[in-house]
Amino acid sequence: MENSENKGCNIEFPLWAIYPDAKCINGYLYDMDSWDEELGGFTSGGDEPCPICHPEAWLDNCETEEERERTKKWIEILKNTYGNPKWLLKHQ
Ligand SMILES: [Zn+2]
Repeated sequence: MENSENKGCNIEFPLWAIYPDAKCINGYLYDMDSWDEELGGFTSGGDEPCPICHPEAWLDNCETEEERERTKKWIEILKNTYGNPKWLLKHQ
């Protein structure tokens, strides 16, 4: 299902929990556990940049070179495991 309003990569992956609970909407992450049926939206999220859409935001937060390398690898794993191949092709 494609949401034309979402300009983000649409990835869903585990961030706060061990199951996929983070969703990228317009480049920012929302907590899928905070879905509100009545509102038709998420009540929590929107502050954390998506690591696929904004990898630099995550890498800039790293304090050591080692942490940077680990974060880079983590982003690659996310792309390969949860990324939308069509979106990734268009944005690389
Ligand atoms: Zn994204």
